[in-house]
Amino acid sequence: MERVGVLALQGSFAEHLARLAQLSDVLPVSVKTASDLEQVDRLILPGGESTAISKLLHSTGLFERLQQKAAEGLPVWGTCAGLILLAKNIVGGQPHLGVMDITVRRNAYGGQLDSFSCRQTLPVFGAEELPLVFIRAPWIESVGTRAEILAEHAGRIIAAREGKLLATSFHPELADSDAVYRYFLQI
Ligand code: GLN
Repeated sequence: MERVGVLALQGSFAEHLARLAQLSDVLPVSVKTASDLEQVDRLILPGGESTAISKLLHSTGLFERLQQKAAEGLPVWGTCAGLILLAKNIVGGQPHLGVMDITVRRNAYGGQLDSFSCRQTLPVFGAEELPLVFIRAPWIESVGTRAEILAEHAGRIIAAREGKLLATSFHPELADSDAVYRYFLQI
């Protein structure tokens, strides 16, 4: 059984762990330390506050090891703040892990009151209509040569992939669909 980690320092990690627990073929693992990280076959970086998560990655000693593991091919999926952590470029800001060849714009849709949800089919994740939840969400301004665009919403890039790294600007852990989890588990 695959051990799928969720970085559990800040943000919506409990929701991701609960979603993983509903899938029959994975073992959800909460990752809080560098030794937890050694136990997992895949890792999800949840939404939350990217600056806070980044600080906690440093204070827990996870930062360098995670950077290294991502570069070595650990499948990592960043959702929302997790996407911001992965990006090599942040418009008007400094990168955090900086392992994925994408440029992101934080709070691109506006503040908390501009958070929204909608339903849309994103063909890369299958034919079903997906509930998309955006909470102070970033969008992907552009992808570099090594990354590919997976999905767009209203002309903005909301999902991208580079090798075993996946980034989505919305919150699949808050939606009643496993489609994006299934996609990640096949990487
Ligand atoms: N706005 C947050 C940030 O910049 C991300 C929001 C989220 O993860 N829902 O880190």
